[in-house]
Amino acid sequence: MATQTKGFCKYCGKEYAKSGMVRHLSSCKARKAKLEKAAEKTKCGYFQVIISDKYNKDYWLIVEINENATLIDLDQFIRDIWVECCGHLSAFEIDGMSYESMPGDFFWGEPPEDMHHQLKKIFKVGQTIGYEYDFGSTTKLVLKVQDYYIVGRKKEKITLLSRNNPIKILCSQCGKNEATWVDSQRLYEEAPFWCEECMRERAKEGIDPEELDDWDEDLVNGDEFYEMLLPVCNSPRMGICGYEGSEEYSNQFVPDEG
Ligand SMILES: [Zn+2]
Ligand SMILES: [Zn+2]
Ligand SMILES: [Zn+2]
Repeated sequence: MATQTKGFCKYCGKEYAKSGMVRHLSSCKARKAKLEKAAEKTKCGYFQVIISDKYNKDYWLIVEINENATLIDLDQFIRDIWVECCGHLSAFEIDGMSYESMPGDFFWGEPPEDMHHQLKKIFKVGQTIGYEYDFGSTTKLVLKVQDYYIVGRKKEKITLLSRNNPIKILCSQCGKNEATWVDSQRLYEEAPFWCEECMRERAKEGIDPEELDDWDEDLVNGDEFYEMLLPVCNSPRMGICGYEGSEEYSNQFVPDEG
Protein backbone atom coordinates (compact mmCIF):
# COMPACT_ATOMS: atom_id res chain seq x y z
CA MET A 1 0.00 0.00 0.00
CA ALA A 2 1.29 3.45 -0.84
CA THR A 3 2.08 5.64 2.11
CA GLN A 4 -0.44 8.37 2.80
CA THR A 5 0.55 11.96 2.23
CA LYS A 6 1.34 13.92 5.34
CA GLY A 7 1.05 17.59 6.20
CA PHE A 8 2.09 20.02 8.92
CA CYS A 9 -0.08 21.39 11.72
CA LYS A 10 -0.43 25.16 11.36
CA TYR A 11 0.06 25.75 15.06
CA CYS A 12 2.87 23.42 16.21
CA GLY A 13 4.41 22.18 12.96
CA LYS A 14 3.97 18.47 13.76
CA GLU A 15 3.51 16.18 10.80
CA TYR A 16 0.61 13.74 10.35
CA ALA A 17 -1.42 12.03 7.66
CA LYS A 18 -4.93 13.40 7.12
CA SER A 19 -6.92 11.45 9.72
CA GLY A 20 -4.11 11.75 12.26
CA MET A 21 -4.10 15.48 11.67
CA VAL A 22 -7.84 15.75 12.29
CA ARG A 23 -7.34 14.00 15.65
CA HIS A 24 -4.26 16.06 16.44
CA LEU A 25 -5.97 19.39 15.75
CA SER A 26 -8.56 18.71 18.45
CA SER A 27 -5.82 18.23 21.06
CA CYS A 28 -2.92 20.39 19.76
CA LYS A 29 -1.52 22.34 22.73
CA ALA A 30 -0.23 25.22 20.63
CA ARG A 31 -3.67 25.59 19.07
CA LYS A 32 -5.39 25.45 22.46
CA ALA A 33 -3.10 28.17 23.80
CA LYS A 34 -3.96 30.33 20.81
CA LEU A 35 -7.70 29.77 21.28
CA GLU A 36 -7.46 30.62 24.98
CA LYS A 37 -5.66 33.84 24.17
CA ALA A 38 -8.53 34.81 21.89
CA ALA A 39 -11.15 33.73 24.42
CA GLU A 40 -12.12 37.23 25.56
CA LYS A 41 -12.82 38.35 22.01
CA THR A 42 -16.28 38.32 20.47
CA LYS A 43 -17.30 34.71 19.92
CA CYS A 44 -18.14 33.18 16.61
CA GLY A 45 -19.04 29.74 15.26
CA TYR A 46 -16.65 27.92 12.95
CA PHE A 47 -16.96 24.83 10.82
CA GLN A 48 -13.97 22.58 10.35
CA VAL A 49 -14.08 21.18 6.85
CA ILE A 50 -11.88 18.55 5.20
CA ILE A 51 -11.60 19.02 1.46
CA SER A 52 -10.16 16.20 -0.66
CA ASP A 53 -9.96 15.16 -4.25
CA LYS A 54 -12.79 12.72 -5.00
CA TYR A 55 -10.48 10.08 -6.47
CA ASN A 56 -6.96 10.82 -5.26
CA LYS A 57 -7.10 11.01 -1.48
CA ASP A 58 -3.48 12.18 -1.37
CA TYR A 59 -4.75 15.70 -1.97
CA TRP A 60 -6.37 17.19 1.10
CA LEU A 61 -6.95 20.48 2.91
CA ILE A 62 -8.21 21.01 6.45
CA VAL A 63 -9.82 24.42 6.90
CA GLU A 64 -11.72 26.39 9.51
CA ILE A 65 -14.51 28.59 8.16
CA ASN A 66 -16.55 31.29 9.83
CA GLU A 67 -20.18 30.15 9.94
CA ASN A 68 -21.26 33.53 8.53
CA ALA A 69 -19.16 33.03 5.41
CA THR A 70 -21.03 32.11 2.26
CA LEU A 71 -20.54 29.44 -0.38
CA ILE A 72 -19.10 32.23 -2.52
CA ASP A 73 -16.25 32.62 0.01
CA LEU A 74 -15.61 28.90 0.11
CA ASP A 75 -15.75 28.63 -3.69
CA GLN A 76 -13.25 31.48 -3.97
CA PHE A 77 -10.89 29.80 -1.50
CA ILE A 78 -11.01 26.48 -3.39
CA ARG A 79 -10.38 28.32 -6.65
CA ASP A 80 -7.45 30.27 -5.19
CA ILE A 81 -5.64 27.34 -3.66
CA TRP A 82 -6.48 24.43 -5.97
CA VAL A 83 -8.40 24.85 -9.19
CA GLU A 84 -8.72 28.26 -10.86
CA CYS A 85 -7.53 28.21 -14.48
CA CYS A 86 -9.88 30.09 -16.80
CA GLY A 87 -12.85 31.16 -14.70
CA HIS A 88 -14.90 28.01 -15.31
CA LEU A 89 -18.24 27.42 -13.60
CA SER A 90 -18.42 25.56 -10.33
CA ALA A 91 -21.06 24.01 -8.11
CA PHE A 92 -21.62 22.58 -4.64
CA GLU A 93 -23.94 19.62 -4.20
CA ILE A 94 -25.53 19.66 -0.75
CA ASP A 95 -28.39 17.40 0.30
CA GLY A 96 -29.45 16.82 -3.31
CA MET A 97 -29.47 20.54 -3.99
CA SER A 98 -27.13 22.21 -6.45
CA TYR A 99 -25.58 25.61 -5.64
CA GLU A 100 -23.89 27.03 -8.72
CA SER A 101 -21.51 29.93 -9.28
CA MET A 102 -23.63 31.13 -12.21
CA PRO A 103 -27.02 29.42 -12.17
CA GLY A 104 -28.17 29.61 -15.77
CA ASP A 105 -30.80 27.79 -17.78
CA PHE A 106 -32.21 24.56 -16.50
CA PHE A 107 -34.36 22.09 -18.32
CA TRP A 108 -35.98 19.95 -15.70
CA GLY A 109 -36.25 19.48 -11.96
CA GLU A 110 -35.43 22.11 -9.42
CA PRO A 111 -33.58 25.20 -10.66
CA PRO A 112 -30.13 25.41 -9.10
CA GLU A 113 -29.48 27.86 -6.29
CA ASP A 114 -26.75 30.47 -6.45
CA MET A 115 -23.94 30.63 -3.87
CA HIS A 116 -25.29 33.51 -1.76
CA HIS A 117 -25.94 31.20 1.16
CA GLN A 118 -24.38 31.42 4.58
CA LEU A 119 -22.76 28.21 5.70
CA LYS A 120 -24.59 28.26 9.04
CA LYS A 121 -27.90 27.90 7.18
CA ILE A 122 -26.85 24.89 5.12
CA PHE A 123 -23.90 23.07 6.73
CA LYS A 124 -24.39 20.28 9.27
CA VAL A 125 -21.64 18.40 11.07
CA GLY A 126 -21.13 14.97 9.53
CA GLN A 127 -22.38 16.07 6.13
CA THR A 128 -20.57 15.17 2.91
CA ILE A 129 -20.68 17.77 0.17
CA GLY A 130 -19.73 17.44 -3.48
CA TYR A 131 -17.91 20.17 -5.37
CA GLU A 132 -17.19 20.42 -9.06
CA TYR A 133 -15.06 22.95 -10.89
CA ASP A 134 -15.38 23.21 -14.68
CA PHE A 135 -18.21 21.18 -16.16
CA GLY A 136 -15.99 20.15 -19.11
CA SER A 137 -12.68 18.86 -17.76
CA THR A 138 -14.16 18.57 -14.31
CA THR A 139 -12.20 18.54 -11.07
CA LYS A 140 -14.35 16.76 -8.49
CA LEU A 141 -13.84 17.33 -4.79
CA VAL A 142 -15.47 16.02 -1.64
CA LEU A 143 -16.01 18.22 1.42
CA LYS A 144 -16.66 16.73 4.81
CA VAL A 145 -18.09 18.96 7.53
CA GLN A 146 -15.98 17.56 10.34
CA ASP A 147 -16.79 19.76 13.31
CA TYR A 148 -18.45 22.93 14.59
CA TYR A 149 -17.25 25.02 17.52
CA ILE A 150 -17.56 28.49 18.99
CA VAL A 151 -14.31 30.36 19.61
CA GLY A 152 -12.92 33.91 19.59
CA ARG A 153 -13.55 35.58 16.25
CA LYS A 154 -10.69 35.76 13.77
CA LYS A 155 -10.09 38.43 11.17
CA GLU A 156 -10.00 36.01 8.25
CA LYS A 157 -13.08 34.04 7.24
CA ILE A 158 -11.12 30.94 6.25
CA THR A 159 -7.99 29.58 7.92
CA LEU A 160 -5.95 26.78 6.42
CA LEU A 161 -5.07 24.45 9.32
CA SER A 162 -3.12 21.89 7.32
CA ARG A 163 -2.72 20.50 3.82
CA ASN A 164 -0.85 17.61 2.23
CA ASN A 165 2.81 18.22 1.51
CA PRO A 166 3.65 18.24 -2.21
CA ILE A 167 3.62 14.74 -3.69
CA LYS A 168 7.05 13.87 -5.10
CA ILE A 169 6.64 12.87 -8.71
CA LEU A 170 9.56 11.41 -10.64
CA CYS A 171 10.31 12.30 -14.22
CA SER A 172 8.82 9.50 -16.32
CA GLN A 173 11.58 9.82 -18.92
CA CYS A 174 14.71 9.29 -16.78
CA GLY A 175 13.05 7.95 -13.64
CA LYS A 176 15.64 9.79 -11.57
CA ASN A 177 14.96 13.49 -11.20
CA GLU A 178 11.92 15.08 -9.68
CA ALA A 179 9.44 16.10 -12.37
CA THR A 180 8.71 19.79 -12.81
CA TRP A 181 6.47 19.60 -15.87
CA VAL A 182 3.51 17.54 -16.95
CA ASP A 183 2.48 16.99 -20.56
CA SER A 184 -1.20 17.94 -20.49
CA GLN A 185 -1.87 16.13 -23.78
CA ARG A 186 -0.59 12.83 -22.42
CA LEU A 187 -1.72 13.13 -18.82
CA TYR A 188 -3.38 9.71 -18.78
CA GLU A 189 -0.79 8.00 -20.94
CA GLU A 190 2.40 6.24 -20.01
CA ALA A 191 5.02 8.90 -19.49
CA PRO A 192 3.54 12.35 -18.91
CA PHE A 193 6.17 13.76 -16.51
CA TRP A 194 9.35 15.64 -17.39
CA CYS A 195 12.30 17.02 -15.46
CA GLU A 196 14.27 20.08 -16.63
CA GLU A 197 17.15 17.92 -17.80
CA CYS A 198 15.08 15.61 -20.01
CA MET A 199 13.21 18.57 -21.39
CA ARG A 200 16.47 20.15 -22.47
CA GLU A 201 17.65 16.84 -23.96
CA ARG A 202 14.49 16.64 -25.98
CA ALA A 203 14.90 20.20 -27.18
CA LYS A 204 18.37 19.41 -28.48
CA GLU A 205 17.07 16.75 -30.85
CA GLY A 206 17.09 17.96 -34.40
CA ILE A 207 18.92 21.16 -33.52
CA ASP A 208 22.29 22.01 -35.05
CA PRO A 209 24.86 21.40 -32.24
CA GLU A 210 26.43 24.76 -33.13
CA GLU A 211 23.32 26.45 -31.91
CA LEU A 212 23.21 24.59 -28.63
CA ASP A 213 25.47 26.98 -26.80
CA ASP A 214 22.81 29.57 -26.87
CA TRP A 215 19.92 27.24 -26.22
CA ASP A 216 17.09 29.32 -25.01
CA GLU A 217 13.34 29.54 -25.10
CA ASP A 218 13.37 30.69 -28.72
CA LEU A 219 14.56 27.31 -29.93
CA VAL A 220 11.50 25.59 -28.60
CA ASN A 221 9.03 28.29 -29.51
CA GLY A 222 6.48 26.99 -31.93
CA ASP A 223 7.08 23.39 -30.85
CA GLU A 224 3.64 22.28 -29.78
CA PHE A 225 5.04 19.87 -27.22
CA TYR A 226 6.36 22.70 -25.07
CA GLU A 227 3.15 24.62 -25.27
CA MET A 228 1.33 21.64 -23.78
CA LEU A 229 3.55 21.44 -20.72
CA LEU A 230 2.10 22.58 -17.41
CA PRO A 231 3.93 22.95 -14.11
CA VAL A 232 3.82 20.12 -11.60
CA CYS A 233 1.93 21.54 -8.62
CA ASN A 234 0.24 20.49 -5.39
CA SER A 235 -3.31 20.32 -6.70
CA PRO A 236 -5.85 17.77 -7.96
CA ARG A 237 -6.11 19.95 -11.08
CA MET A 238 -2.46 19.53 -12.05
CA GLY A 239 -2.13 19.04 -15.81
CA ILE A 240 -5.80 19.78 -16.52
CA CYS A 241 -6.98 22.47 -18.97
CA GLY A 242 -4.49 25.34 -18.50
CA TYR A 243 -3.97 24.95 -14.75
CA GLU A 244 -0.63 26.44 -13.72
CA GLY A 245 -0.86 26.22 -9.94
CA SER A 246 -1.91 28.70 -7.30
CA GLU A 247 -0.73 32.29 -7.35
CA GLU A 248 -1.53 32.88 -3.69
CA TYR A 249 -0.54 29.66 -1.96
CA SER A 250 2.82 27.95 -2.25
CA ASN A 251 2.87 24.20 -2.91
CA GLN A 252 4.42 23.64 0.50
CA PHE A 253 2.28 24.67 3.46
CA VAL A 254 4.40 26.46 6.05
CA PRO A 255 3.28 26.19 9.70
CA ASP A 256 3.32 29.23 12.02
CA GLU A 257 6.11 27.64 14.04
CA GLY A 258 7.83 24.34 14.56
ZN1 LIG B 1 -0.39 21.07 16.35
ZN1 LIG C 1 -9.42 26.13 -17.79
ZN1 LIG D 1 14.16 13.31 -16.48
